[in-house]
Amino acid sequence: MERESDRLAYSNASSISISRDILPIKMSNILSSVAYTQEGHLIKAANAHKGQSYICPNCNLELILRRGKIKRPHFAHKTLSANCTPETALHYIFKTLLYEKIQHHLENKLPLDIKWNCEYCPNPHTDNLLKKAVHVELEHNLGVCKPDIALLDKDNKVIAVIEVVVSHFIEQSTLNYYEQNKIVLIQYILTMDEDIGRLNNPLIEPDKVALCLNPKCNECGRYKSKKHLLIINAFCWKCSAPMKVAAIDGDDGYISNSGFSESDRKLANEKGALVISQYSQTVGRIYFANTCKKCRAFIGDYYLSDYIVASHDEGDFYKKEIFDIGYYCVCSL
Ligand SMILES: [Zn+2]
Ligand SMILES: [Zn+2]
Ligand SMILES: [Zn+2]
Ligand SMILES: [Zn+2]
Repeated sequence: MERESDRLAYSNASSISISRDILPIKMSNILSSVAYTQEGHLIKAANAHKGQSYICPNCNLELILRRGKIKRPHFAHKTLSANCTPETALHYIFKTLLYEKIQHHLENKLPLDIKWNCEYCPNPHTDNLLKKAVHVELEHNLGVCKPDIALLDKDNKVIAVIEVVVSHFIEQSTLNYYEQNKIVLIQYILTMDEDIGRLNNPLIEPDKVALCLNPKCNECGRYKSKKHLLIINAFCWKCSAPMKVAAIDGDDGYISNSGFSESDRKLANEKGALVISQYSQTVGRIYFANTCKKCRAFIGDYYLSDYIVASHDEGDFYKKEIFDIGYYCVCSL
């Protein structure tokens, strides 16, 4: 392990620019909670013993156990270590353990599932982090930056980086570099030393991933969102007969009746609705509308959203079925 080089690489960021780049978190949440024993094993403060000496994973200096009445057990440097704080130590150990976990999966050709809430669409995504990666590097030098962890493909090209963020933001120039070079940025944002426990999860669940798995819109270039066909068990507004009302609902907002494609309409009618073309006097044109099978009254586009809203309520009144029908973009509504 390259402990010394890591300390040097990281010390500037933490000690000099910390007041400017600090995250809005309570720093007291972070204590040094892991250390190496003299034998080189990682140990948690809760399992450590007073009077024994331990080694700081970050700066290699001696640590002692503090077990007081107010703070939970933690390690402290025996003598002051200017460039080593609990934050830098947490950063170091988290990065190292995550790297070792990825390395273990690569060596054994095991998939490593990653799950994230998407910044670009409302859907969470899951994928295999190691689909294309064949190699992992700590502090890989990219010239403009040294990401904590880099994943490389068979052509030795960096395809994704993992940044463990504790007390600093990532520089804008670095973010630009990742974007320009199509490198997926994965971020863990740590706010307390207990975050180390997140690595026990067999799944990788970072806080931010700059990637959406949905297709992109050909018109505007943004990521599309999922859309669903709802079949709502309702009643005709005119004759009160039970009526299945089809509506298209999108993860990125309501889609109007005119959003019914031929295949959506076919599916809706297979599921018991009656969506046919109707002439609306209100808007002066023909469009597809839900029609009562008994009295042939139809639901105007304007009122259809009321059915969707009512079906979102958890009550028993409007039960509904949901079918995935692909993707849409808000620009084409
Ligand atoms: Zn240290
Ligand atoms: Zn997405
Ligand atoms: Zn679009
Ligand atoms: Zn009716």
